[in-house]
Amino acid sequence: MSASLTDAKSAELYARAVQRLPGGVNSPVRAMRAIGRDPLFVDRAEGAELFDVDGNRFVDYVCSWGPLIHGHAHPEILAAISEAAARGTTFGAPTAGEVEIAEEVARRVPGIDMLRMTSSGTEAAMSAIRVARAVTGREKLLKFSGAYHGHLDGLLAEAGSGLATAGVPASAGVSASATANTVIVPWNDGEAVVRACAEHEFAAILAEPYPANMGLVPPFEDFLQLLRNQADATGALLVFDEVISGFRVGPGGAQEREGVTPDMTVLGKIIGGGLPAAAYGASREIMEHVAPAGPVYQAGTLSGNPLAVAAGLTTLRLLDEVAYARLAATTETLVHGLRDAAGDVPVQIVSVPGLLTVFFSAEPVHDYAGAQACDLAAHAAWIRALLARGVYAPPSQFEAWFPSLAHTPEHLERTLEAAAAAFAEVK
Ligand code: PLP
Repeated sequence: MSASLTDAKSAELYARAVQRLPGGVNSPVRAMRAIGRDPLFVDRAEGAELFDVDGNRFVDYVCSWGPLIHGHAHPEILAAISEAAARGTTFGAPTAGEVEIAEEVARRVPGIDMLRMTSSGTEAAMSAIRVARAVTGREKLLKFSGAYHGHLDGLLAEAGSGLATAGVPASAGVSASATANTVIVPWNDGEAVVRACAEHEFAAILAEPYPANMGLVPPFEDFLQLLRNQADATGALLVFDEVISGFRVGPGGAQEREGVTPDMTVLGKIIGGGLPAAAYGASREIMEHVAPAGPVYQAGTLSGNPLAVAAGLTTLRLLDEVAYARLAATTETLVHGLRDAAGDVPVQIVSVPGLLTVFFSAEPVHDYAGAQACDLAAHAAWIRALLARGVYAPPSQFEAWFPSLAHTPEHLERTLEAAAAAFAEVK
């Protein structure tokens, strides 16, 4: 039986929004175009639940695309933000919180001794690349097709023709010269990486160790080690973008889970606990290239601002072993339940603790081409059917679901019931 949503107030807001905001939104995926509907406007959220302006209630698996590992409006995080705000919102001068969060991050993440905070993952990735270029004296970057590292020009590149080619702009307004030093290689293709490293002198090999921006496509066994070996053999820096995986898949991120330590790490999302914060970090030797310790200029008016630091620090301190075990169990329950719910609908359900993607494909997905070959129309119909049944899942297959510590067994039950009905509807 098909279900439907009441969305008159969202529709009214959207009609106004498109007059003033391009596409009606402040970041493209929110427009829900990939699932062929207009966005729902959020009124409020609490724990794992989102309430829209029409009064619809959803179990939320977007959770702001990753920062909210403890769910929405966690009381201790809200209290930390309020307490910080009462002392002043920003000073443009150092605070104790910045020292504490840097210590907390360095204690957890194997590849980080020192870090610099920024306000977005984009800025952190851009700055890490600048440092990698300064350290190596080289300009070229190796990037994987389907990986996303924020909207900086040099990485808004897609593959040209051929396997390991100079990138071509993936957005209007990005100059060919900005992407000329970016070489794009298919994910999980060791031979292509080796070939590219033989042909080019890279400043950095840049990877999401658990890519989650083409849907979740984990690395083949030993693929991250191959990247480590190629970087070592050729003098490139290995940069892991853990903006999504950092503090989510485990305390030390994917690098700790996979036992491969990068030269530099990019962090975002969870480190800001739902407020704008990100960071890049590395060994002391590398990070002391950053001004004013060294010659690489990078700055930010709101970098390390006290509200985001308070939210991030509280978020990190609440993440103990028990929390990680619970998030892993929640993810497993979802994965098994979704597999059962799918029945004979051909899907690939891929997960790591705290992340999952449902690919509508009979074949395993190993790279971006595989993700693009999925039945995107069936996925879109399934997500719409989920929405109509009170489950707010990422409105694009090229994304991951973000289960949180606020998702209870009752939320999972509601989700799996809705999922079974939605699968039956799209079959
Ligand atoms: N890197 C990865 C892996 C991301 O997923 C994102 C954003 O989703 C970014 C970088 C950019 O972060 P921000 O949106 O904070 O600029």
